Amino acid sequence: MSGAVGLVWHERFAGRGFVPRRASWSRYALAVSSFADRGFFRQGLRVFGTPPAGDDELASVHTAAYLRFLRELDGRGEGFVDGAQTPAYRGMYFRGALAVGGTLLATRLVTGGTVAHAFNPAGGLHHAHPDRASGFCIFNDIAVAVRDLRARGVRRVAILDVDAHHGDGTQAIFWDEDVLVVSLHEHGAGFFPGTGGTDETGIGDGAGCTLNLPLARGTSNRAFLRALDLALVRIGGYRPEILLVQFGTDGHADDRFSHLELSDDAYIAVAERAHALAHDVCGGALVMFGGGGYVPETVARVWTSALGTIGGFRMLGRDG
Ligand SMILES: [Zn+2]
Ligand SMILES: [Zn+2]
Repeated sequence: MSGAVGLVWHERFAGRGFVPRRASWSRYALAVSSFADRGFFRQGLRVFGTPPAGDDELASVHTAAYLRFLRELDGRGEGFVDGAQTPAYRGMYFRGALAVGGTLLATRLVTGGTVAHAFNPAGGLHHAHPDRASGFCIFNDIAVAVRDLRARGVRRVAILDVDAHHGDGTQAIFWDEDVLVVSLHEHGAGFFPGTGGTDETGIGDGAGCTLNLPLARGTSNRAFLRALDLALVRIGGYRPEILLVQFGTDGHADDRFSHLELSDDAYIAVAERAHALAHDVCGGALVMFGGGGYVPETVARVWTSALGTIGGFRMLGRDG
């Protein structure tokens, strides 16, 4: 089962990102050229240019004081957004707002029926909190998109986060709301960000709506896929109207930002199984976002396999 797939893009995605390591900024452009190398565009992959999210949209999740703080730092163009990890630079506010705009666009393209599935490679900034940046994330794009979905009458939203790090910002934002937040991540021994234990399950309207599946250091495909299946059973039982997947690939064995030892096959299985579940329970409404992933060649290869899987694209020769 497949339909048209949308790729959200802006030329600034190919420029400076939020990770201090310059080498990692190339992953977006590398991924798009990999999609072209495999002939995805002539097989129906459609590109949609994104505008930045507006301040009113950002304010649906982030505090006014935090947005002011970011604008000030952007003007100064130096220092750290989160005290230690994420450097500030001129233009970062616009770049962050573009990532959010892309996620808003991706979800609207799917709920509006323009495409069956959509991918925003610059999204998935799951560490951002309402009033603070963390771990290379200044705005929580997925949370803003969930607020937008809710405002447009979509009641049941499920988020699956397979990044090697716990999606602490997303969990905190929806802690007391009826939004299903499921995260698979490395956990333990001081590993960032430290949250994401099985005892964290939500409160109030969100009671039982947070599911954490922590993984031990050194986890490889077999145990990861067992946890993935538990996640998908929970998501299927929730009967979401749309499934949002934070597709961070930093649990890959090539990637030294975590101690997980996953291979391409684990990520292909995420794409296959999430895609099948979306067709089973929510009419195929599946949106994928990037996230962690710091070896550009690995990220581009894994995203190519994942997009090929959900789009039903064959690995052909280069688009003309
Ligand atoms: Zn499909
Ligand atoms: Zn990560």
